[in-house]
Amino acid sequence: IKMSLKYKRVLLKLSGEALMGSDPFGINRETIMQMVQQVKEIVELGVEVAIVVGGGNIFRGVSAQAGSMDRATADYMGMLATVMNALALKEALESLGTKARVQSALTMQQVAEAYARPKALQYLEEGKVVIFAAGTGNPFFTTDTAAALRGAEMQCDVMLKATNVDGIYTADPKKDPSATRYQSVTFDEAIKKKLKVMDSTAFTLCQERNLNIVVFGIQKMGALKSVVLGEDEGTLVHN
Ligand code: UDP
Repeated sequence: IKMSLKYKRVLLKLSGEALMGSDPFGINRETIMQMVQQVKEIVELGVEVAIVVGGGNIFRGVSAQAGSMDRATADYMGMLATVMNALALKEALESLGTKARVQSALTMQQVAEAYARPKALQYLEEGKVVIFAAGTGNPFFTTDTAAALRGAEMQCDVMLKATNVDGIYTADPKKDPSATRYQSVTFDEAIKKKLKVMDSTAFTLCQERNLNIVVFGIQKMGALKSVVLGEDEGTLVHN
């Protein structure tokens, strides 16, 4: 059976926490394997996959700043944390036989290739997963902003933001049992209703570049596949 893809090239944003599973920090083996299994599934459907990974499971600049560390230094440490996650993702993907490359926004030639747009585009066309590490390479930004930036640069059809909740709700579903999930919402509505999708820099960049966002829950096996097949999964944010 030939399944029709809603999205041909996607930017998948994985937060650091998504790799943590139920552990208090770091990378949970089962969790990361479950995640890359899902990535493998959509690669095999013919989807081109770029990934931006966060670092919050290891280090987060804002929290370190609260502990009186210089913010820029703390942010560089946060970016280094994303490099560790990126390497772990690459290894996990390749253990399943899915080809992957890591490109880092901070150069560290012994560890990963430096970010190079043409090369990254070539990898995607070859069906390799490209994992972008070190965020934007600049302090005071987030990996959500890096995801918006790389998503736009790679001309992705959509940004898929994997979260612990399966979409955007009218209220916090953990606190309000009557909360319902939006199937879709426009960028303007999201702003007006003060729905927290991403930080404002990332959000604005997506809106300006016309990069739609799907917020979805990645815990459920097969969720990523459902999203790229256009089945009702998560919340679509669009212009
Ligand atoms: N970071 C940064 N610039 C970037 C991306 C990330 O300085 O372009 C730093 C920042 O300190 C951040 C940390 O890296 O707290 C980890 O990224 P993020 O918090 O976005 O990870 P996530 O929440 O997705 O796990």
